[in-house]
Amino acid sequence: MKKTKAAKILAVILAFAMLLACVSPAFAIVIPQDVKNVILLIGDGMGPNSLEWTKAELGVELFMDTLPYQGYSMTDSLDGTTDSAAGATALSCGRRVFNSNLCTLAFKPGSGAIIFSYMNVSEAAKSLGKKAGIVTSDANHGATPAGFSVHTYKRDLSEEITVQQMNSNLDLIWAADGGFSSAEKFESAGWTYSTSMSELEQVEYGKRSFAAINGKIEYETGRKDDAPLSALTALALKKLDNDKGFFLMVEGAHIDKNSHSNNKEGMMKSLIEFDKAVETAVNFAKEDGNTIVIVTADHETGGITYNEEKKEYEYTSGGHTSANVPLRLYGCDELVKDGAAVKNTEVAKLIAKKLGYNGLFPKATFNFGFLFDFIAAVIKTIGEKN
Ligand SMILES: [Zn+2]
Repeated sequence: MKKTKAAKILAVILAFAMLLACVSPAFAIVIPQDVKNVILLIGDGMGPNSLEWTKAELGVELFMDTLPYQGYSMTDSLDGTTDSAAGATALSCGRRVFNSNLCTLAFKPGSGAIIFSYMNVSEAAKSLGKKAGIVTSDANHGATPAGFSVHTYKRDLSEEITVQQMNSNLDLIWAADGGFSSAEKFESAGWTYSTSMSELEQVEYGKRSFAAINGKIEYETGRKDDAPLSALTALALKKLDNDKGFFLMVEGAHIDKNSHSNNKEGMMKSLIEFDKAVETAVNFAKEDGNTIVIVTADHETGGITYNEEKKEYEYTSGGHTSANVPLRLYGCDELVKDGAAVKNTEVAKLIAKKLGYNGLFPKATFNFGFLFDFIAAVIKTIGEKN
């Protein structure tokens, strides 16, 4: 009697499981127990309405919408509405800082007096013997890639950021030519140096690879020297894949850049290319089975709003806003379970945890030179005033 009851319960559970498998054709819901790789894709300036407007205007569907776990992230920095430097720092170090700070908290942003330096998720990955890489449509010293590779108080120190990246232990930094890197210097620091997609294809597996791409990354234009973000992402995944795992950050920077100038066509083209990069990453994760993919933005740009009278979306700003941004995951259902928006700093904490970092994270190092830097900064400010 007891046996039949147990068999009935088992049959019901089995039937339910089969039904579940049938109703989710796009994604068999697989949550890897043993995460090896984490891929984070940041659509710079990508708010929820950047997606809605693109779909409505172009009549397209977005791959991002098919991701199984969806929620929102809050983006404000210690200054209120964030810039991409503080946004990247929150997503990479798990700390809210002042605008312009990169993996640091500076006493007065811009003064140069660093109070704390924070470990970022690329460093966490490297400390575990994993590989770490960055792919962006921006220059290498842009705020988002810098927020995953350097520690400085000010985002526009392009030359210093490039030097710090050269001296970092990252395995791959692929970006648009930012004008501050040279083949000679990077090669003598142990990197291969490439300027095109075809050169990158030739890079031997396992070599540290820096790219200052001459062609267009943000989207395909049909020109021979194009290196679209999705194609770079696919190649980067091949180069980074290894037994111990990796962390890869991919940034679509031109969703933001085009929205600053209210160029909706450029924004939409860049968003669609970013969406292709997301699809590339998820396809890799599906095949690999031990990879999670996180898609989010550092902030919204353009204040894109639906105008009820005109029945269409429109830009209402040329800058950043505090709107919550999409947070979508594959292979991990954390952070979005109850649909409430989470702080952007939670993303960094999740990445560190999933990479297997067991130490304290966020991890802050006090800068003992702070007082000296502070006095120097005050003297400099007084000097500048006179
Ligand atoms: Zn911006």
